[in-house]
Amino acid sequence: MDPDLTLFPHYASILAGTANASYLTSARTPVEFHDAMTTDDLWDLHTQANITNTASTAANPPSLLDLKRTIADRLYTSCVLCERRCHVDRRTTPGACKTLEAHVACEFLHYGEERVLVPSHTVFFSGCTLHCAFCQNWDISQSTSGDIITPTELARRITQRATQGARNVNWVGGDPTANLPYILTVLHHLTTNIPQVWNSNMYCSQETMQLLSGVIDLYLTDFKFGNDVCASRLASIDNYLAVVQRNHLLAAENGDVLVRHLILPNHVDCCSKPILDWLADHLPQAAVNIMAQYHPEYHAAAHPELRGSISTTEYKTVAGYAESLGLHLL
Ligand code: SF4
Repeated sequence: MDPDLTLFPHYASILAGTANASYLTSARTPVEFHDAMTTDDLWDLHTQANITNTASTAANPPSLLDLKRTIADRLYTSCVLCERRCHVDRRTTPGACKTLEAHVACEFLHYGEERVLVPSHTVFFSGCTLHCAFCQNWDISQSTSGDIITPTELARRITQRATQGARNVNWVGGDPTANLPYILTVLHHLTTNIPQVWNSNMYCSQETMQLLSGVIDLYLTDFKFGNDVCASRLASIDNYLAVVQRNHLLAAENGDVLVRHLILPNHVDCCSKPILDWLADHLPQAAVNIMAQYHPEYHAAAHPELRGSISTTEYKTVAGYAESLGLHLL
């Protein structure tokens, strides 16, 4: 077995065929509810179902996964899927992510992710809940174009990709958060025992994190900023640190965690080191990938400190600091 897989025990057990993907367990957990119930009552049921989690052996709707879909649909009509909390009706009105119906920019077997993930069936959604000035993926994240793929068709493609060797489904963008109702509907049509990876900036709302619990097996996170001043200046986002820290802790309660940190030029002391300090203090079991591939993209030129690449010294400083903290580096 790949030694790195020991860092992801739940994910590894699904790959080994000794455990079910979490979404399958939720799809097989019966929950009695109906559409006339209030959203508060649905949340109460959701909490109880998560606690008892008495999986039956047969798919028998309504299930916990159906309940999650119903709640997600309600969050969508006054959108609080991420902590921007726009409260727009996403059926007709885009919020800050500019996203309405889910648009898939591309989906394919990706061989460029971390070794434990490849080949990874990566589903790139258009749109993002953040607007980072230096976005390395801005042609997708800041776009609203892409294909509308029915949930049944995407479920069929996932099944097909699994037969081609996909080790997981990797929901990404942009960011997947704005498309949670769509993702849950795809999973409703899926029966393949394949791990689900949430590849996200982690600016999700707490409600979204609750719905992801029991669905996602591995959280592949981007931890970008080590303080709110840099987050506000470079990504026009409020309360970044508290939200992302909270969500990392929730993720670790509910699945395996692989944290990515892209080193930004001239942000070693204000961002990289505080992030690594926090991980060492609060998530020492998490795997961490220190990423050195920053290059100036999108609106990076508007920020003088982001106009170049990172230096060798900056990379060695961050990697060495992470090692000194005893973090599990990939
Ligand atoms: S996903 Fe976030 S940014 Fe998009 S509409 Fe909902 S709350 Fe706003």
